[in-house]
Amino acid sequence: MALKFKAALCSCVTVFVFAASAIAPTQQEHSAGKRTLIRAGHILDVKTGKLSNAQTIIVADDSIQSIGPTSSTSPQPGDEVIDLGSMTVLPGLIDVHTHLTMNPDFDPFREVTSTNAKEAINGVVNARKTLMAGFTSVRNVGAGGFVDVDLRDAINSGQVAGPHMLVSGPAMGITGGHCDDNLLPFQYHDVGEGVADGIAQVQHKVRENIKYGADLIKICATGGVLSKGDDPQASQYTLEEMQAIVADAHRLGRKVAAHSHGAQGILWASEAGVDSIEHGSYIDDAAIAMMKKHGTYLVPTVYLEDWQIQYGHLPAFYHQKMVDVSAVAKQNIKQAIQSGVKIALGTDAAVYPHGLNAHELDVYVNQLGMTPLAALQTTTINAADLMGLSLKIGTLEPGKWADIIAVDKNPLDDVRVLQDVKFVMKAGVVYKQAGLEK
Ligand SMILES: [Zn+2]
Repeated sequence: MALKFKAALCSCVTVFVFAASAIAPTQQEHSAGKRTLIRAGHILDVKTGKLSNAQTIIVADDSIQSIGPTSSTSPQPGDEVIDLGSMTVLPGLIDVHTHLTMNPDFDPFREVTSTNAKEAINGVVNARKTLMAGFTSVRNVGAGGFVDVDLRDAINSGQVAGPHMLVSGPAMGITGGHCDDNLLPFQYHDVGEGVADGIAQVQHKVRENIKYGADLIKICATGGVLSKGDDPQASQYTLEEMQAIVADAHRLGRKVAAHSHGAQGILWASEAGVDSIEHGSYIDDAAIAMMKKHGTYLVPTVYLEDWQIQYGHLPAFYHQKMVDVSAVAKQNIKQAIQSGVKIALGTDAAVYPHGLNAHELDVYVNQLGMTPLAALQTTTINAADLMGLSLKIGTLEPGKWADIIAVDKNPLDDVRVLQDVKFVMKAGVVYKQAGLEK
């Protein structure tokens, strides 16, 4: 249910190498040689669900150096000690579907009068909100003017507080499709930045997005909800166009995320080799089988339906589509989950206010039947795998970035505790402590 954008593993090693260098913390985020000891009442292993009591994490610079019993971990001169009391500590959360440069305002006049400068300001505000909510890494899948590239770089340089970001730049799509700009009449000749039709044009657009800083490629495989004049169930890119996109993207070390609601588009995108299906509202048995065969991740974005039903004010030409999709999406996605499709957590934050990302977990557990541990894995281990960053994020282990959060209770007893994260460290720097933002 992506927004209308002005502008959305390959298992090869090059993806990881590129991605890691794109978001590596800089010296400005920590002072060299500094050690911090985090005293944790409990540490939750998100691989197994095991809770270990009275543990200490030793953070050196931007990374975890070691984890061991507090009783055998004495501070050395110069160490900083952070005592988190009885809190439960776990890895920073990951959201693989955000739009940090956008806000939940779907007034058509606002949409056509938005500017890159306004979106950059949105990005600075929303990056901070997302980090403070405990999300220390995100994929940003669709932004105009490559504003997301500059936001990522500003975060990496220490200028702006925000999560590690992998960014797509403008989402690619067909003329008149979900990722085009369809509000203005012909005389304005308004064309979305990511529009590309046919094999030659899509190859050019993939290369252009990478030229200007994209870490991944976002495409619109089907119609969408928050766009005028298109049908979420209709496929948009052809199988051949998506095969060309994936071939170039993977050859150049980038993954592909495909916005897909309709079953045909999901099936073709998975067959073409995209790395993730975003939304998946009308997923059917054939599409599920194709995704399982190809190991394609599904990124459901389901909390937004609940939020929109309760608080949303959409123009009429968006509203009916939201009603139609919401009527079937959860049941279909529940079926996909039960069938064993791999799931990574994404929220589409921007369709509802940023910072509410953890509400997605509540829907997974309390509406879609996922166990709390499986839900937690979608926003840690699985999301890290989809981002190609499993060596750096997703679990608390020596050598990984010190992306660490803490909550009052064990989230396996109630995942809603993750909606109130009390402590946030990213790359060894504390951003929130005792519930207070720094
Ligand atoms: Zn989206």
